[in-house]
Amino acid sequence: MQSVQEAESSILGQVNPLDPLLDRELVVLSSSCQRILAQPVTSQSDFPHWDNSAMDGYAVQFADVAACATDRPVRLEIIEEIPAGVSPKKTLQSGQAARILTGSMLPAGADTIVMQENTQRQGDWVQILQAPTAIGQFVRSQASFYQAGQILLPAGQVITAAELAILAAAQCLQVTVYRRPKVAILSTGSELISPEQRLQPGQIVDSNQYALTALTLQAGAEVLPLGIVPDDPIVLKTAIAAAISQADVVISSGGVSVGDYDYVDQILAELGGKLHLRAIAVKPGKPLTFATFSQARSSTLYFGLPGNPVSALVTFCRFVQPALRKLMGYPSDQWLPAYWEATTLQPLLGDRKRESYLWGKLITQRGENQFTLATGNHSSGNLINLAGCNALAIVPMGANPLAGDRVTVMPIAPSALA
Ligand code: AMP
Ligand code: MG
Repeated sequence: MQSVQEAESSILGQVNPLDPLLDRELVVLSSSCQRILAQPVTSQSDFPHWDNSAMDGYAVQFADVAACATDRPVRLEIIEEIPAGVSPKKTLQSGQAARILTGSMLPAGADTIVMQENTQRQGDWVQILQAPTAIGQFVRSQASFYQAGQILLPAGQVITAAELAILAAAQCLQVTVYRRPKVAILSTGSELISPEQRLQPGQIVDSNQYALTALTLQAGAEVLPLGIVPDDPIVLKTAIAAAISQADVVISSGGVSVGDYDYVDQILAELGGKLHLRAIAVKPGKPLTFATFSQARSSTLYFGLPGNPVSALVTFCRFVQPALRKLMGYPSDQWLPAYWEATTLQPLLGDRKRESYLWGKLITQRGENQFTLATGNHSSGNLINLAGCNALAIVPMGANPLAGDRVTVMPIAPSALA
């Protein structure tokens, strides 16, 4: 049985990120949200594209107005009005000003903006009532935000609202992103039925397929749903072989324990897989198999998760998600889950031999993170009290934190602090 840390390093050590040259695709800007850049983006434009005004006011020459004040106003001739979106036509000379609006281009010859509040307009003339503090005041200089040719967005950057806005501003109509890895998901167990089938005594509804599909999609990968496979060594072997040949990652649930019908490990070995992990000192989730299959260009990762619904969910979040993030091209500081310190409001029962992950809610109250343990039964077979949970409290081996103690918490849902 390996420790959680050993298992984490063993898994991440086997993951080769997608190839930025071979595993990429071009997507249109509007479809690029949540995708990951496979190459850096550069722009041929400066930001701002040209000197422009940060205020509604008047473009002037600093030397003309440097010494003015309310009792010593300077009178300048207005030679032009420059609304936003228009290119100035005239060059400003000493003694002149141009009416300018926020975002408008600075006219040639001007070097400073005087804000409207410090002026008084008189027909074609304007009185400047207060000297700007420095040359260049309220001018957004060309290239002061970004210089053409430099890296605008690095490879590995996830595209969210801000990056979409930047790409749009840079008129990047198509974006080179990593392809989404294909994740095959199958549920093993002769007792399983799908939700639309009629339940016979003793049967269990395949809920893992739904949870694992949702988690995989949330992680940004593509799902290949392979349904339910019975505990029949021949059928299971065929299904697993097909999954491995089609996917970058295979996730099965069930059949990795030491019961009479747990065939997954044996089948993986028969199919030529290299088994790296078979049991982890984690609760829930002890029976977890991790194997790799060498393919022509890369290797397929195989995660055999335990069948119990909570175990499958917890082990996905703790072990599969980091592997997916490394595979998908995230930078290394973003592979692992986020961890938060929180005060537990209830005592947490640890395990003598395993690191425990207890489900509940993480909230922030008056700047303080608090963890509330889900009420009800904490059996790994009970998925009902998982509803609404957004975090797992991590209790080290042998520890039993009391109410009020600080604990480490791992968010598992977008509703948690992440
Ligand atoms: P196993 O790991 O195959 O021994 O399964 C452990 C427990 O999880 C058993 O009670 C199974 O019936 C249950 N289980 C296995 N697979 C699923 C699934 N896909 N959905 C819900 N429960 C499952
Ligand atoms: Mg089973």
